[in-house]
Amino acid sequence: MNILLIEDDVVLADGLTHTLNASGYSVTGASTGAYAEQLLLAQDFDLIVLDLGLPDMDGLEWLRKLRSRKIPLPVLILTARDGVNDRINGIEQGADDYMSKPFELRELEARVHALIRRCYGGFSNDIVLGRLTLDTHNHQLLVNGQTINLSAREYGVLEILLLQAGKVVSKDRIAQRLTVDGDALTDNAVEIYIHRLRKRIEPFGTLIRTVRGLGYLLERSDDE
Ligand code: CA
Repeated sequence: MNILLIEDDVVLADGLTHTLNASGYSVTGASTGAYAEQLLLAQDFDLIVLDLGLPDMDGLEWLRKLRSRKIPLPVLILTARDGVNDRINGIEQGADDYMSKPFELRELEARVHALIRRCYGGFSNDIVLGRLTLDTHNHQLLVNGQTINLSAREYGVLEILLLQAGKVVSKDRIAQRLTVDGDALTDNAVEIYIHRLRKRIEPFGTLIRTVRGLGYLLERSDDE
């Protein structure tokens, strides 16, 4: 899961990045609305955490533009202002949840989890495809109740493919998803993880197809 964090308070941004990284999310930070805009054009994100008090523009204005372009990404807003009005305005402009500063990092983490579940995983922590069940809470892959051991990166690749099952996921997107400390994976490394993952999951009625020039697609290979 790739999170775009738009926050100009460096200390808070560092804390959030650290907390979210520790629970398995990739975080890309932007300290201005304009830079966030550029990142949004260049990369794929799954969720946005948006501070309303940005140095170059009002976060609400940024959000309004995002929604006017029909970008449906879940957005959690952070507001330093205590006013109920800001929260109401935020929700009206299309925010999915909000937190008022100051807040506990752990609470934000829980809200991010919940939002992702709500938007991508139904009401469960599990993503199911055929005989595969990915337990996104415990970061485990289960087949018929048995755990299949995956490395953290294999898990990351499988999660993104499963969330988009039946759709093509680009190699770049996978590389970004597995970014550690700002270093995206090389194409070769992505191929290696895909290769390993195939060996793990293909015996269980699931297939990772290579769509030449575009990326990879996960689908069922059985007729169940
Ligand atoms: Ca701010």
